[in-house]
Amino acid sequence: FVTNRLGRATPRPAPAKAPEASRISAAQNFENLPGYRELKLQRSGAELIGLGNPFFRVHDAKAGATTRIDQKIFTNFSSYDYLGLNGHPKVSGAAREAMEAYGTSASASRVVAGERPGHISLEQALAAHYRTEGCVVMVSGHATNVTTIGALLEPGDVVFHDALSHNSIVTGVQLSGAQRRSFAHNDLDALENLLQATRHEHRRALIVVEGLYSMDGDAPDLAGFVALKKRYDAWLMVDEAHGLGVTGRTGAGLFEYCGVDPKEVDIWMGTLSKTLSACGGYICGPIALIEYLKHSAGGFVYSVGMSPPLAAAAEAALAVMQAEPERVERLRQNGNLFLTTARKLGLDTGFSLGLAVIPVIVGDSLKAVTLSDRLFRRGINVQPIIHPAVPERSSRLRFFLTSEHTPEQITDTVNAVAEEIAAIDKGGSLIEQLLA
Ligand code: PMP
Repeated sequence: FVTNRLGRATPRPAPAKAPEASRISAAQNFENLPGYRELKLQRSGAELIGLGNPFFRVHDAKAGATTRIDQKIFTNFSSYDYLGLNGHPKVSGAAREAMEAYGTSASASRVVAGERPGHISLEQALAAHYRTEGCVVMVSGHATNVTTIGALLEPGDVVFHDALSHNSIVTGVQLSGAQRRSFAHNDLDALENLLQATRHEHRRALIVVEGLYSMDGDAPDLAGFVALKKRYDAWLMVDEAHGLGVTGRTGAGLFEYCGVDPKEVDIWMGTLSKTLSACGGYICGPIALIEYLKHSAGGFVYSVGMSPPLAAAAEAALAVMQAEPERVERLRQNGNLFLTTARKLGLDTGFSLGLAVIPVIVGDSLKAVTLSDRLFRRGINVQPIIHPAVPERSSRLRFFLTSEHTPEQITDTVNAVAEEIAAIDKGGSLIEQLLA
């Protein structure tokens, strides 16, 4: 029944033509979503050969260099807690104080619910770090990329991004309606060719790179990208999600690592969820950019302000990071030890610089999942990265190091990886094993 203008109920008119019930029910069935069918197929394949699910494991302790899963202690390489600041007394203490003062939520968008002092002081600290005029923080790193890129560009504009860019960057470009052109990973010549051929067709142009690539652990030549963005009149945006706290002598990030003035970059983006042990994202840049985003980016205007305890945690973590560069040095030594040991044993670590992110590339997805499973049984928690996150032939285990891993944990792990790869190779291909 529907109500007419007088508020009286009248029978709802029948639709002009009833849809064909059987066709609709198949398409509308969630079980028929192609991605879901693929997932189920993968799971049943893994179960068939006795492999556990390496994803969504429940950790019943704070996951850093070690963790506890099902009451068992593991050496852990699956956390982005690069400088071991998650649970640091100063970080947790700051969060506790903010929670006592302001509760756990900002309760609405900052536009209407107003600021908390911690929003402002965190933004000031981040702006000072990058020596920019301003900063805005948002509730998720992913959303920060999506909404920032989505709000800055429009149809008629163009975004040039590295072929290995994070999903949030690509999604932001799609939202903006700008033309999307990707260039080969870290390849300045490929970018220049694209700029030369197409820049003149578009009004605004944005180049996006990452400070440390999360699948490969390598970094761009920042000075080269700055030169190109100047030559072709484009903005340059650097996503420092994995770079902050990791690259550069004091962990200041890509600008320190490459010896480039941070002012040469138009937009510094980063997340609070990795080195800074909280949750959220930030954009640092000129005040006009920041003010524009605060009034126009949907992910800021129409989303709740960052939770006050998380803002306080991130600010405290940034202060500890800046005051204790020895953490960055320990992380660097750990990365170096992992990389040199792995290379000595003939493992394929791809392009990794040996900083916080080191892949061990094994080839096909099944081998990567099997290796991860075998290591798990030996007390090592590390996740496989498989197709479609990376191309099928470059499936890998991805190790996230922290400053808190011990040298023994690292050498024992790398030795275990080499032993298990040798054992898998000796056993022949998994298909052969299944058929045996
Ligand atoms: N950018 C990059 C390069 C990332 O790797 C990630 C997440 N790992 C994000 C953005 C999104 O950050 P968050 O997980 O904090 O939302």
